[in-house]
Amino acid sequence: MPDDCLFCKIASGAIPSKKAHEDDLVLAFYDIAPAAPVHILVIPKQHIPSAAALGEQHAALLGHLFAVIAKLAAELKLDDGFRVVSNVGELAGQSVPHLHFHLLSGRALAWPPG
Ligand code: 5GP
Ligand code: ZN
Repeated sequence: MPDDCLFCKIASGAIPSKKAHEDDLVLAFYDIAPAAPVHILVIPKQHIPSAAALGEQHAALLGHLFAVIAKLAAELKLDDGFRVVSNVGELAGQSVPHLHFHLLSGRALAWPPG
């Protein structure tokens, strides 16, 4: 884990966050600058720089992470819909180089994204 990684520090609890879910592998916490009425970040506790670094060895972790997303969507009653998005690299606007999935809901979400 890189010492200077913001989301590693949030995953370890060194930097506080408003948690929506936590277990041994995954943390979900509310985004500090919400882009929608519901905006949660779902991260693996393990440091992975982005979706570009994923491989077959992450299959179980990703299955679990998406099960957490589905559980949150059910708990929060996002029955009208939600979006899951992961920005990768400069062109997509990734600002934190630790894999994270945005869970967005609570308003109509434009498509395609800007
Ligand atoms: P990205 O731009 O990499 O796709 O997403 C990073 C997200 O992390 C942004 O939506 C930003 O608001 C959020 N963020 C950045 N720093 C913090 C922080 O210290 N705490 C929380 N909860 N969210 C953060
Ligand atoms: Zn990290």
